Amino acid sequence: MSIFNTIYDVIVVGGGHAGSEAAAASANMGARTLLITMNLQNIAQMSCNPAMGGIAKGQIIREIDALGGYSAIVTDNSAIQFKMLNKSKGPAMWSPRAQSDRMLFSQSWREILETTPNVDFYQDSVIGLLFDNQKIIGVKTALGPQINGKSVILTAGTFLNGLIHIGDKSFGGGRAGERSSTGITEDLNHQGFESGRMKTGTPPRVDGRSLDYSKMEEQPGDKITHSFSFLETKPLKKQRSCYLTHTNEKVHALLREGFDRSPMFNGRIQSTGPRYCPSIEDKIDRFSTKDRHQIFVEPEGWNTVETYVNGFSTSLPEDVQDKAIRLIPGFEKVKFFRYGYAIEYDYFPPTQLKHSLETKLIDNLFFAGQINGTTGYEEAAAQGLMAGINAALKTQNKPPFVLKRNQAYIGVLIDDLITKGTDEPYRMFTSRAEYRTLLRQDNADIRLTPLGHELGLASEQRLVKMKAKKKKTANLIKFLKETSVTKAEINPILETKGLSKINQSLKLYKVAARPQLCFKDFKNIESLQNFLTTEKIDNTILEQAEIHLKYSGYIEKEKSNADKLNRLENVIIPQNFNYEKVRSLSYEAKEKLTKIQPTTISQATRISGVSPSDISVLLVYMGR
Ligand SMILES: Cc1cc2nc3c(=O)[nH]c(=O)nc-3n(C[C@H](O)[C@H](O)[C@H](O)COP(=O)(O)OP(=O)(O)OC[C@H]3O[C@@H](n4cnc5c(N)ncnc54)[C@H](O)[C@@H]3O)c2cc1C
Repeated sequence: MSIFNTIYDVIVVGGGHAGSEAAAASANMGARTLLITMNLQNIAQMSCNPAMGGIAKGQIIREIDALGGYSAIVTDNSAIQFKMLNKSKGPAMWSPRAQSDRMLFSQSWREILETTPNVDFYQDSVIGLLFDNQKIIGVKTALGPQINGKSVILTAGTFLNGLIHIGDKSFGGGRAGERSSTGITEDLNHQGFESGRMKTGTPPRVDGRSLDYSKMEEQPGDKITHSFSFLETKPLKKQRSCYLTHTNEKVHALLREGFDRSPMFNGRIQSTGPRYCPSIEDKIDRFSTKDRHQIFVEPEGWNTVETYVNGFSTSLPEDVQDKAIRLIPGFEKVKFFRYGYAIEYDYFPPTQLKHSLETKLIDNLFFAGQINGTTGYEEAAAQGLMAGINAALKTQNKPPFVLKRNQAYIGVLIDDLITKGTDEPYRMFTSRAEYRTLLRQDNADIRLTPLGHELGLASEQRLVKMKAKKKKTANLIKFLKETSVTKAEINPILETKGLSKINQSLKLYKVAARPQLCFKDFKNIESLQNFLTTEKIDNTILEQAEIHLKYSGYIEKEKSNADKLNRLENVIIPQNFNYEKVRSLSYEAKEKLTKIQPTTISQATRISGVSPSDISVLLVYMGR
């Protein structure tokens, strides 16, 4: 049957990071899915940095994987370098990061989607939405046909009325070389949605052959690489290095000369950009006492000379970019592939959404990704996955799937967005998660794979693997608790570490719990080595046990705090609750609660302007 005669369960608009995860999830959950995107050659295009993961973002990718999404597998398929960041800090902070081959990343996503049953594809631009009262029923496309769907997920990224700026030039575009998208914002505004403008920017791409790497510092990947996916993806056998160089005062002086022609400073760009990903002109302006900034020179793939100049995001005029970059060591003879630019685009304040990412105003309409005011592939992919799951569940008349703040970074992300909203591009940080010792990258499978499996997303193979990991870790901990180590065995180790010796035998777990020691130090403890060999204990299990032994105090404390919060999570606020009736609530609380419509008392506590006394008033009113 033609796609124009089909009523799809789920129509996904946009094949970026959010759209790809959304289409895969809804299709894998049995929903008949159509992915409409402006250019099928650009599926999951990395618009900016060709890298996935990093601090807090790496945790999100592992969570997506644990639930049965694909971003981790695609990252492993296309990685050219791997690093575990923050290894010197506690395990709550360890974050995997990979450089990807940009083209391979996109190709790998396309292969996955093409082999996913239930996904149809159509290349066109959606220019409007079809409504029946307060419900979405399909989309209008630029080439003419209307397509019917029971639910629609909008993942239009930076494309809605996108406006690109380079120096004093501005032109419509969703990304370099691609058209912007018009019509959707206007239709949504007409339905009563509030929209706003945000901006982001990207650095120049240059020809790696024109750079002098001898003037830069090599940044190789980790010697021992890991993979992102909990499934067995192929480990990286070789890697490509990145390089580090710095700007200097001469570069800054030259860039400053162009400020009067910068859209950032002459008032042409009014919207807010990502605070934590500032442009080079922003950095020079805001941190004027710093005489240099880091520039990471990153290859864009295995078989390309195209190179990403990380740290030099700019929308200054081309001639200024050209002259200034040449003053950076190693860039003297640089040849440009393309100039850096900034882009302004429409977003929809996410307080207009429910936890399921369905809009409050229009039934069966979901938003995911940059359209919700976030920035980053990982944040987008996570929302795409959740919107895909929830759109599929909605068409199956099943309750929504919502992750709590103590279950996943994805839960924190969505709860922050819909409860607090955002007026600048939102990116994830470990500091946003109050239970970050629980939400580690290493245990994402233990936290989430059972849930993903129940949804029909995470495979049986994932579940079996996760259960085996859990069991082996428990067995190892039991062994450590039951087995003693003699002073003759342990004292030589303590001595080499400069620690005080012991006078009597000790249980192994007490020794292993010491922060200065790790399993690598116990090579000569025969009983332990025999156990590890017979039970086939690998590094993943050793790491799990080590985290358990060293951090169990923190973990238990966070669990107990989370349990307390869960009690408030269970106090449900009825839909469309009339806060005006509750006389003792402050005026500000009434206004904010009415706007956000929290579903639980716990969510109400996180709304800015709602004070603890407002919460007490609500609890009393509800008989608690
Ligand atoms: C210039 C630039 C700089 C960036 N810099 C950073 C950065 O420094 N750090 C960072 O973390 N992130 C950055 N990003 C953001 C990052 O690219 C996004 O967060 C991420 O790609 C968002 O994913 P998404 O799926 O929401 O949207 P996108 O990846 O943008 O995908 C949107 C998709 O929707 C399609 N589409 C749009 N409208 C329609 C329509 N009407 N009909 C059909 N298809 C449509 C597009 O063709 C595209 O395939 C930058 C993005 C850009 C463009």
